[in-house]
Amino acid sequence: MTPTSPPPLLEAVALRCRSCGAPLPADSTGDVIRCVHCGTSQRIVDARAFVDQISLQINSFLRNAIPLNSGALVGGSAVDPVARHNLFVQGIRPALDSEYREMKFRCFDLLSHGQMALPFTVAGMSGPTGDPKQAFVFQAKVRAVTSLAVDTDSQEYLADIDAIATAYGHLLTNAGLLLNPGPDRYPFLARNCRGASDVLKSRARLQALYERLLGLSGLAEGTDALMRNDARQARDALKEAMPHLLNSRQIALQNFDQSVLIGGIDEDLSLARATMSLADILSTGAGGRDARVLGTLEVFLRTITSPAPGGYVSASSINVGRTENLLSLAAQMRKAQAGQGSVKVVRTPGNLALPYWVVEVPYSFQTGALWKARGVEVTDMMLVAATFPIALNSAAGADPSSSVTDVFAAREQTTWRARVAGRETAISGGGIVQQVASGAADLPLPGIPAVPPLSTQAEATDLVQSYLTWSKRRDTEIEQKLRLSLPRVVDLVYIPSSPGAPGYPATPCLGSLSPRFVGDPAALTALAFA
Ligand SMILES: [Zn+2]
Repeated sequence: MTPTSPPPLLEAVALRCRSCGAPLPADSTGDVIRCVHCGTSQRIVDARAFVDQISLQINSFLRNAIPLNSGALVGGSAVDPVARHNLFVQGIRPALDSEYREMKFRCFDLLSHGQMALPFTVAGMSGPTGDPKQAFVFQAKVRAVTSLAVDTDSQEYLADIDAIATAYGHLLTNAGLLLNPGPDRYPFLARNCRGASDVLKSRARLQALYERLLGLSGLAEGTDALMRNDARQARDALKEAMPHLLNSRQIALQNFDQSVLIGGIDEDLSLARATMSLADILSTGAGGRDARVLGTLEVFLRTITSPAPGGYVSASSINVGRTENLLSLAAQMRKAQAGQGSVKVVRTPGNLALPYWVVEVPYSFQTGALWKARGVEVTDMMLVAATFPIALNSAAGADPSSSVTDVFAAREQTTWRARVAGRETAISGGGIVQQVASGAADLPLPGIPAVPPLSTQAEATDLVQSYLTWSKRRDTEIEQKLRLSLPRVVDLVYIPSSPGAPGYPATPCLGSLSPRFVGDPAALTALAFA
C-alpha cells in the first residue's frame, strides 16, 4: 500500500461527530446535524471532513501494522484465511494491544470514580479526563480490521476492544457533561450510558461494566424525569437502576482485576439514593408539583455542595456521601412538613423552623486549691445551629462561638471562697439548653416553613471542638481548669425561630444563649421549604 492509495473501509467510519467522535446517524439530511451524544451542532461537511481525517489515521495505522503489499487483504475480498490470520496475529494484534491496554487502564481508572452528578451541581470527580475522540478513533480502527479476525479468539478479542473503546468514549463525553451543571444534560448522559451498556452486554468478561452502565442510564433517566417534574417516573427509573448497580458491585467484588471499580460503584449507589431523596423532597407536600420547591431545592443543593469559609466545610470534605446524608435529612423534614412523618420539634412560637444539632459535652475540670483540689465530671449540653456553614460565611467570620449556645461564657459566677474550697459544680452554664432540648417531641411540622440541616453530625462535633479550644483561649480560668472533653451529637431538633438582624436572638427560647449568627435572614428564607 502506498501513501496515495485510497482509504480502506470507509464504511467502518460512517459519519462521525467532529466534537466527541461518536458515530452519527448515517441517513442525516440537511446541512446541520446535532450530535445526540454530546449535543454539538455541526455542519455535515465538517463531520465528513472529520471522517476523512480518521480514514487517514486508519491508513497510517495499517501501513505500520501490515507488511507491504498485504493491504488488499484488508478489504475483505481476499480468500486466504490463513494469510489473514497470520496478518492479524503478527501485525494487527500487537499493534492494537499496547493502545488497548492503556485505554482499558484509563477506562477503569475513570470508572473508579462516580459517574453521575446531582442536578445543579458538577461531579466531584477530580479523576482523569481525556478526549472522547481518541477513544472513538481507536474504535474506528478496530472496526476497520474486523475482516482479518478469522478465528473465534481473534473475534472475541476485537469485540472486547470495541466494547471498551466505545464505552470509554461515551464515558469521556459524559465526564465533560458532568462538569457543566446545565439542566438539559441528563438525556445525553442517559443515552451515552445506554450506548455503552449495549456494546458491553455480550462481553462475558465485562459484565460488571455492563450492569453498572445499565444502572447509570436508569439513574440519568430518573434524574431527567425529576427535572421534568415527573416524580413518579423518576422513582420507577431509580428503583430499576439500583439492582443493576448492586449487581455490578457484586460482580466486581468477585473479580480481583475489577475491584478497582468498587469505590466508583459505591459513589454511584450513594448518588442514586441521594436522587431518591430528591424525588421524595419534590413530591412530598399537599401541593404536589410546585415550582417553588424546585427553586428552593436548587439553592439547597448549591449551598450544601459549596465549601464554607473557616475550614469547617472544606472542599475536600464535600462528597456524595455527605450530600446523600443531608438530602436524606431534608427529605425527612419534608415528610414531617406534609404530616407524613415526624421530626423532633421544640414547642415554641416562631415563623421559621431552624435545625439545631444537640451535642452532649462531657468534660472534667479541676477545682479547689491545695488539699481541697479535686476533679469534677460534668455533662453539659450545647446546641449547634445546623445552618452554621452559611452563618460563618457572613458577618460572623469564622468565630465558632457565634453559631452555638456559648455555654462557657454563661457559667455561673462562683465566689472565690467556693473555688478555693473546691465546691464548684460546673464551669459551663447550659441549663436552659438542657431544658429546651429535653422539651423537644416527635411531631409533624405543618404550616411552618423550615430549613433543613446544612451541616453533618461530624461537622457539628468539629465545630464544638473548635469552640472548646476557642473558649480556653478566651478565658484563662477555663484554660487552666478544663481537662478532657469528647463532644457527641445526640439529636437533631427543629426550633421555631425568628431570625432577624445580627445580634437579635434568632431563637428567643434560648434566651441569652441564642446563637448570634444562624445565617443571613434572606439566605435562610431562600433555603426554607414552605
Ligand atoms: Zn458529539
